[in-house]
Amino acid sequence: EILTTLSEVYKACSKENAVEILKNSSDAINNANSFMALFFFSEDGEGFLSTKGQETIDCTIDICSNDVREVIERSLQGEIVVSKIYDSQIFDERLCIYSVPVYEDGEIIGAIAASATLDFFEGIVNEETVMDGKGYIHLLLSNGDFLIRSKNTLIKEDVESIFDGPYLTEEEKAAAQQALDNQESFYGKFRYNDQECHFYMEPLELNGWYIFCANHLWEYVLYYRRIFLIIIGTFCLILAILLFLIYFGYLKFRRNSASLLRLVSQDPVTNAKNTYKFDEEFQEYRKKSNQYSIIALNVHNFKGINDLFGKANGNKVLCYIKDTIDYNLREGEFFCRDAADLFYILMHDIDHQVVSERISQIIYHINKASASYGEYSYELLLYAGVAIQGDREKALVAMQSIQHIHSKSIAFYNQSLHEEVRKKNSIESCMHQALQNKEFKLFLQPKFDLKTNQIIGAEALVRWQKTNGSYRYPNEFIPLFEENGFCVNLDLYMVERVCEQLRTWMDAGMKPIPISINQSKLLFLERNYPKNLKNILDHYQIPSNLITLEILEGIASDNISFLNQQIEILQENGFRVSMDDFGSGYSTLNMLYQLRIDELKLDRGFLKKASVDDEKRRNIILEEVICLAKKLGMVVVAEGIETQQDREKMLNLSCNYGQGYFFEKPMTATDFSKKYVHG
Ligand code: C2E
Ligand code: MG
Ligand code: MG
Repeated sequence: EILTTLSEVYKACSKENAVEILKNSSDAINNANSFMALFFFSEDGEGFLSTKGQETIDCTIDICSNDVREVIERSLQGEIVVSKIYDSQIFDERLCIYSVPVYEDGEIIGAIAASATLDFFEGIVNEETVMDGKGYIHLLLSNGDFLIRSKNTLIKEDVESIFDGPYLTEEEKAAAQQALDNQESFYGKFRYNDQECHFYMEPLELNGWYIFCANHLWEYVLYYRRIFLIIIGTFCLILAILLFLIYFGYLKFRRNSASLLRLVSQDPVTNAKNTYKFDEEFQEYRKKSNQYSIIALNVHNFKGINDLFGKANGNKVLCYIKDTIDYNLREGEFFCRDAADLFYILMHDIDHQVVSERISQIIYHINKASASYGEYSYELLLYAGVAIQGDREKALVAMQSIQHIHSKSIAFYNQSLHEEVRKKNSIESCMHQALQNKEFKLFLQPKFDLKTNQIIGAEALVRWQKTNGSYRYPNEFIPLFEENGFCVNLDLYMVERVCEQLRTWMDAGMKPIPISINQSKLLFLERNYPKNLKNILDHYQIPSNLITLEILEGIASDNISFLNQQIEILQENGFRVSMDDFGSGYSTLNMLYQLRIDELKLDRGFLKKASVDDEKRRNIILEEVICLAKKLGMVVVAEGIETQQDREKMLNLSCNYGQGYFFEKPMTATDFSKKYVHG
């Protein structure tokens, strides 16, 4: 490369100048490139020789040794030549000479040559490795002699040629020789130290030289075997993982599909059928016959069993119910368990009487066992809905119509029942939204002093005004709200509306009229109730003596002492407390004396038409009750005064106040304000 560069530079200069420059720089060129000598000869054989460490001399090509001369002459013919190795006459070194032609105007006008030691080649053969570092390269001459032998040799003995020594068989030698003659690559084997070895030679296309490499076959094999083993190992590992995953997946699938299969047909708690399986069999059955009844069976307050005895025992009860049903069914009848404690049964009977008796029998058996259940005794009260030739949904509707423990335990489906349940569901689905939409309106019905006919207060009554303007009356939804607990929200909402109304009157400089508000039993039993009430009143800045709280008499039967405690707190806070609908339920005189209330509201049932004799007896009771109440410090209000006679009668019985259609029907707060509230 360096010589070619010099030749190009030469070409760029004029001829005399170029030789001079080259000659003058030759020492520096030698030193910079570790050349042992630099030659230049023109085509006529004239030139110079610059030997390292000596004077540069002008000379002719004839003074060069044959090896050198041959190379230079070939370059004068246009070749780039690398000489064979020769022994230097001047230095004690084996050298090699490189030579390139020099051109001018496309004509060869001379050759530049340089000699160098073999360090460069040795560097290559000692460092350059093949086969992942396992094999070293040697250089061969065209006759098989080593030109350069790497320090790293397989054969430790000194050998001059690949044909030396006992290593190659005669056949291998002949084959190798033939490859050398033809300048072909060659792969051969030999034995060394009892190990099989192999060698490979590849022609360099330079002076007939070869690259040569020998190695233990087993190392070579080992190398590839290791790669092979790694590949196989990796493959096996992947295969094993795959197989494991497939097997694991299969196991999981089997387990899941087994439990899935069970799930689609079986209830995991009792091992009864589930509704899916029930419906499937039901559909099959219906294709064959319409002789059937569907029964929905449930336990009253099953949640209580779970709460009291724990879920595990609750599950045992369910299993017992399942066994009892199973025992009582006939050939071809079947049943399932839906969620919680709800069972569905298909019976072949369609006669009301027969079905009733059979269900009663089941309920009786379950009930009988419940007394001896574990170490506890707990009565299992069941109830059932029947849909003769109906379906599960209808049986459920019938069952849901039974709400109270003390009512009947079996109900049959009919259309009106359906209507009732549908209505109930529709109310429950929109009550929260209705409260937010302020659909619950405040109506007021005044109360009057029976003697003076003066207004002494009003009762707040709720009306549910639907978005289409129509009204729903409290009897349609209050019992449901009491059952589902929503009453608590509604009642406090009504307290707010009342306070709001009182504040409006007061802000307008009017004289506020005291208002009674109906409060549900649930609310009264809440410990925080007095505090919550007070907060509302404080918010609107309403004095609590303007508010009377009406509680239903039925409430009192539960927990008299707690109720009295609440009443006391409310009274301390300035509220008045009234007992509503006295005489409509299980009133006891005991209750009258135990509860420290401010007002007694006589149920309008006292004013119902009755025979003369009954009327007489009733009046005796009324008179005494009124008298007793007054002696206990209560005022008495008669509800349902519809006629002048009603009014006179209650007046004669010394009743203080009256409320009813005779005076006024409940009206909107606006109408009430116009008519009864003045400055
Ligand atoms: P209640 O507290 O005994 O209210 C009196 C009921 O009798 C009202 O029915 C009223 O409209 C009606 N009434 C008034 N005068 C007469 C009359 O001369 N003859 C007849 N036949 N009836 C009369 P309403 O408004 O339908 O309320 C029914 C019940 O609903 C109330 O009975 C009360 O227990 C409950 N209620 C009403 N509003 C609320 C409320 O905001 N919260 C709660 N928890 N219950 C309420
Ligand atoms: Mg009332
Ligand atoms: Mg009442």
